[in-house]
Amino acid sequence: MSESNKQFYRIFKKVKDYIAYGLLTIGIMVVVTASVNASGYRLGSEILIDGETIGLVVNRDYVHAAIEQVSEELYEHNLSFEREPVFIGRVVSPSAAMTQEDVRNAIMSTIDNFVEGYALVVDGEPILALVSEEAAELALENHKNRYVAGNISNDSIIEFDAEVEISNQFVPVSSLRTVEGALLALEPALGVRHTFVKQYVEEIPYEVERVNDYQLYRGRTAVGQAGQRGEDAIIARVVQVNGVEVHSDILERTTLRQPTTRIERIGQAEPPPTIAHGRFIRPAAGTLTSRFGRRWGRMHNGIDIAGPVGTYIRAADGGIVTFSGWDGGFGNIVRINHENGYSTWYAHNSANLVRVGERVAQGQVIARMGSTGSSTGSHLHFEVRRNGVPVDPWPLINR
Ligand SMILES: [Zn+2]
Repeated sequence: MSESNKQFYRIFKKVKDYIAYGLLTIGIMVVVTASVNASGYRLGSEILIDGETIGLVVNRDYVHAAIEQVSEELYEHNLSFEREPVFIGRVVSPSAAMTQEDVRNAIMSTIDNFVEGYALVVDGEPILALVSEEAAELALENHKNRYVAGNISNDSIIEFDAEVEISNQFVPVSSLRTVEGALLALEPALGVRHTFVKQYVEEIPYEVERVNDYQLYRGRTAVGQAGQRGEDAIIARVVQVNGVEVHSDILERTTLRQPTTRIERIGQAEPPPTIAHGRFIRPAAGTLTSRFGRRWGRMHNGIDIAGPVGTYIRAADGGIVTFSGWDGGFGNIVRINHENGYSTWYAHNSANLVRVGERVAQGQVIARMGSTGSSTGSHLHFEVRRNGVPVDPWPLINR
């Protein structure tokens, strides 16, 4: 390699290294930024005034705005605020990030002076102060009215649940609040009691009465009479404190509609053996040779149980015979409607033993096993249909 080539190679290698470091740095920053964002932590600043930490902010503009606010408030008292904040970059958790109001209060608390102000005194205890009497009155007025919106009636009584007075006195600068700041502090400190008359409709639940029905089969129920809820018109005196109801006196109750009792009839009659139980028994002894589902690319709408020709085939549940005869590839088939949404089919029989319209009991012999229709050996093809749709019989059979 010539000298100039070597030099070129060294420069090339350096450039390559710089690019590699650059990409690595960007990569790390992307990862850091992504994880900071994902956790809710943000890049922000620690605020120092006169070397003392005030707190953490995400947005430095809050600090400048708060200082401007403080300066204006102090100006009213012929005081000035001439200190500059210093910022140090920090990662700030969501719970630690200060609002502009927080920053303002924190800065105020660093000022030791007493100034003339208007203290809000609750039960003899000054809780905060405002710069003017108008501001103090406005804060109390806004606090009083913020909970009652929409519920004002002619006889509304809105009052504080403590003695409140505005006192013109010297107050610490740190106790000064804006009207908005005063509202935040008043929320937990001073209850607003609102007494008013409210009209509303109350639903009255219906009663349920159960009666024995000796015509209805045991295990069955029927609705004799549907229940209907009643309605009362209520006039009540309601007391809310800070918008939360704490007391209510009903002044007047007028029945708009009486509730109607719901009557349930409980079956007591001995059911005939041909009534469906709602559960199936296995319709024949033998070997399960084919399950429900796709088979050789075709849907198999039932299960196959193989056994010797002549094996008894029994009704899987009580019901009425709707078909008994020859049906194409099914050969000899019996169909039973169980009158509860279910029907069952029994196919390829060597002989059917029941007639259409006949009522059969669960377990009653209805046919004998065979290989009639499209069948390659003696077996029962058994289908269960729910509302006409074939379903897998196997999980429904009590085995
Ligand atoms: Zn089959």
